[in-house]
Amino acid sequence: MDRLKLATVWLGGCSGCHMSFLDLDEFLLELAARVELVYSPLVDTKEYPEGVDVCLIEGAVANTDHLELLERIRQRTRVLVSFGDCAVTGNVTALRNVLGPRNAEQVLQRAYLECAQDNPTLPRAEGIVPPLLPQVLPVHQVVPVEHYLPGCPPPADRIRAVLVALLEGHAPALEGPQLKFG
Ligand code: SF4
Repeated sequence: MDRLKLATVWLGGCSGCHMSFLDLDEFLLELAARVELVYSPLVDTKEYPEGVDVCLIEGAVANTDHLELLERIRQRTRVLVSFGDCAVTGNVTALRNVLGPRNAEQVLQRAYLECAQDNPTLPRAEGIVPPLLPQVLPVHQVVPVEHYLPGCPPPADRIRAVLVALLEGHAPALEGPQLKFG
């Protein structure tokens, strides 16, 4: 039987959701036998491939690179899972939105000019440093998403419950303490 083609993606997030994925511990061995990890920060693949079955998306959509990648991912993937609170709601990544319409400019100025001890410079390099979007968006506001996996980060047993459901070919149904933000 063909193994399920799994991808994981890291957009505007802290990587904590991927750290929690690694907390799957010995289930990772079972997973390795049942999936082919075709794209991820955990493997060295440069291009998002065609024909992906499931993609876990960590992080909110915060810059133009995220937008472009997410559109490609949607075209090439059967099932998208918003992986963690930043992907589901914007969460920490979207805190800058409360600053209003000039939020991107304000956070860059604060981080790279006002707080710089040395060489205060805004990071600008066309084709290398992607511009920030005017508002940080949760994934489902950019492309349709099939499933949500909340938590900051989602604990490993919740990630496992979602993956097992998808491997068995049915929709994950989180409930009770498994359906929790933060
Ligand atoms: Fe990090 Fe939490 Fe966002 Fe995951 S949901 S990327 S752990 S801040």
